[in-house]
Amino acid sequence: MGHSRDIPADLTRNQGLVLGALTGSGAPLSAYDILDQLRSEGLRAPLQIYRALDKLVERGLAHRLESLNAFVACTDAHCHRKGLIAFAICESCGKVDEFADTVIEERLAAWAGSTGFTVGRTTMEIRGRCAACLGA
Ligand SMILES: [Zn+2]
Ligand SMILES: [Zn+2]
Repeated sequence: MGHSRDIPADLTRNQGLVLGALTGSGAPLSAYDILDQLRSEGLRAPLQIYRALDKLVERGLAHRLESLNAFVACTDAHCHRKGLIAFAICESCGKVDEFADTVIEERLAAWAGSTGFTVGRTTMEIRGRCAACLGA
């Protein structure tokens, strides 16, 4: 976690632009934020952004934060292999930290095993304040 990843060569131009916008942003972006940033690149329609985002999310290169209705670039090269992705969202500065936690994952697996529920994908969104904001 923590290090950013290279943009894969097989993305379409629009996917590359959208991923670049997300990677360059310090905070989650809505589809309309992304569209605003990419107007100068010739992107005009929200649908172009949504299509690119769908593919990026499908490939695990970006994630959708349901509670914010916004998107972030994946910062964990191996995250698509994991069953659980967690995000710590600072409500003060908007910073989002992606992490994975095996303890939570094991607890979830134990719960799923005991209830017979099959877990597909789990995304946790934890809201609070980051260390930098608490120190300020
Ligand atoms: Zn990720
Ligand atoms: Zn903060």
